Amino acid sequence: MTQEQIRQEVIALQDMGHKRLLLEAGEHPRHNPIEYILECIETIYSIKHKNGAIRRVNINIAATTVENYKKLHEAGIGTYQLFQETYHKEHYKELHPKGPKSDYDYHTEAMDRAMEGGIDDVGLGVLFGLSLCHYDFVGLLMHAEHLEALFGVGPHTISVPRICPADDVDPATFTNAVPDDLFLKIVALIRLAVPYTGMIISTRESPRVRGKCLEMGVSQISGGSRTSVGGYVIEEEKEENSAQFETSDRRTLDEVVKWLLDGGYLPSWCTACYRAGRTGDRFMTLAKTGEIATYCQANAIMTLKEYAQDYARPQTRESAAKVIEAELPKIPHEKIRKASVIRLKKIEEGERDFRF
Ligand code: SF4
Repeated sequence: MTQEQIRQEVIALQDMGHKRLLLEAGEHPRHNPIEYILECIETIYSIKHKNGAIRRVNINIAATTVENYKKLHEAGIGTYQLFQETYHKEHYKELHPKGPKSDYDYHTEAMDRAMEGGIDDVGLGVLFGLSLCHYDFVGLLMHAEHLEALFGVGPHTISVPRICPADDVDPATFTNAVPDDLFLKIVALIRLAVPYTGMIISTRESPRVRGKCLEMGVSQISGGSRTSVGGYVIEEEKEENSAQFETSDRRTLDEVVKWLLDGGYLPSWCTACYRAGRTGDRFMTLAKTGEIATYCQANAIMTLKEYAQDYARPQTRESAAKVIEAELPKIPHEKIRKASVIRLKKIEEGERDFRF
């Protein structure tokens, strides 16, 4: 994509109400060099359309060198995300007999190099269903433990993608496919084993499974995702499908937000921590003790208010107002609570981007 095409995509995302995005790129060394990725990041952060802004660019690109991770860190990325696909070495090698991903050790040690390059928010994940899920579950936890032992910082997020249909993938051909009940157990066990981490579920899963996953401890959920290249400006024709995977949850972002609000959740667009330098071990200390909740609660309320003012349909705005009223008294610190009330008023008057 050209920078102009990226600009149009970002404006489309901002107009939906998004405040963070995940930049994904293929592994082609010539078509996707690090300079191109850095240019894209700069473009994304530079776009301010109406009240919109992408405040956190997370990155999902192929394993690379410490030098390149340093460059990504200097570009101000949020989380660096890289999925292992499978921790089972033999199976991994069968799946990647050649090409840039074929070196299992280089791929598996990417997060170590990212940490050495200064990126201390990293996101792990396996593709459940590729290999035996029990093996990958243990591999994932061992990876988290390894990062914590070596760098004092465990994974900032863990994603739980599962094999699903794509234009060239039929899940029936994967004998290790994970059924819903087992998948939900895995989600619950990851939550218990790594209580401080953010857990992510994508629109690969159906609304029903996503709802169950929230109950099991998933804390981050995407909405209105399009997985084809340039898909936010022009939705791709089915027969020209370049989508990375098919989405099961096809609701708009606003429909997902309303669903969350009516389900008793407090949706948040907060990106405060990395912008306030609360990353790595600083973040981990606050997350492990639960102290982070003070910031999260206030920031969630303010960013929800922003969303309601700028992007929500009337019925969503109504649900948001009820949730804000119910959640405001739950901010534990009086000083932050009082400041939040003042800031909510200022948001109504047109000011934006408050954070604690
Ligand atoms: S304050 Fe809470 S919600 Fe906001 S970025 Fe930090 S951890 Fe996430």
